[in-house]
Amino acid sequence: MDAELSNILRQMPKAELHMHIEGSLEPELIFALAERNGVSLKYASVDELRRAYAFKDLQSFLDIYYAGASVLLTEQDFYDMTWAYLQRAHADNVRHSELFFDPQTHTERGVDFGTVVNGIYRATQDAQEKWGLSASLIMCFLRHLSEEEAFATLELALPYRDKIIGIGLDSSELGHPPEKFARVFARCKDLGLHLVAHAGEEGPPEYIRTALDLLQVERIDHGVRCLEDAELTQRLARDRIPLTVCPLSNIKLRVFDQAKDHNMVQLLDAGLVVTVNSDDPAYFGGYVNENFLQMFAALPLGKDHAYRLARNSFEASFIDQPTRQKYLAELDAFFGR
Ligand SMILES: [Zn+2]
Repeated sequence: MDAELSNILRQMPKAELHMHIEGSLEPELIFALAERNGVSLKYASVDELRRAYAFKDLQSFLDIYYAGASVLLTEQDFYDMTWAYLQRAHADNVRHSELFFDPQTHTERGVDFGTVVNGIYRATQDAQEKWGLSASLIMCFLRHLSEEEAFATLELALPYRDKIIGIGLDSSELGHPPEKFARVFARCKDLGLHLVAHAGEEGPPEYIRTALDLLQVERIDHGVRCLEDAELTQRLARDRIPLTVCPLSNIKLRVFDQAKDHNMVQLLDAGLVVTVNSDDPAYFGGYVNENFLQMFAALPLGKDHAYRLARNSFEASFIDQPTRQKYLAELDAFFGR
């Protein structure tokens, strides 16, 4: 890739819409927090932990992901984790980020819901103040747990409703179809929360359709398997349903073998509102710019695609119209449009 394109990818303003904050925990911070909190890890060193990141599928990743999250106990821990991510996002010229968090991973361990949300939220406020980087929170339900447990988590979230903009659905996709959560998503919609769901990553295109029809989501997280279903692909393009695609995650979890095998170009050619995101950057080998750089190095993508992907990221985000116009104007100025 030429230096000009690489600079454009690094420096263009962008939004990140699919990033699990617990997935930004770097091994060094996991060890530092473990020491601070007196938590023992089954890995002897940072290097040993990093070596365990050779995942073969989504489940083998999730096992380590939950082990890593076990070091988070205090509000300051959640703040420090979030702040570390926001610093990296700022360095990658992310102007706006929508952060997923998994409260059930923590409340299950006895951590108070408020400890989680207050720590993360306080870091987002500081990023806004320091850099003008806007960040908002999307609470995810773990789909391997029951809908009843999701309802209980929603109850815990209600006192913090003003700190949460939306609801997502993550964790093990296969065997946990969207319809399992239809009632709790309907309740969240009544509460005026934005709705998104992971679908069509490891799961079949049918999960994308049921996420749209039965959960009424506004965006699909991943969704790369939509291309197996022509009618669904047309619908996603026609209705401009954004896909939050995470290329390095897809490769690390073997959805595609290598960067050159990724279907990013076909998704764009199908007229889909594709965005580029880092998913769980500490585990998958890179933050958002690294995702852009590796895709553009491996695939026939150029400056116009870069513009389109960045534009999509702002158009697909849950920001108010004046903020969106401000970011889009900055993007157009950057590209000289
Ligand atoms: Zn994800």
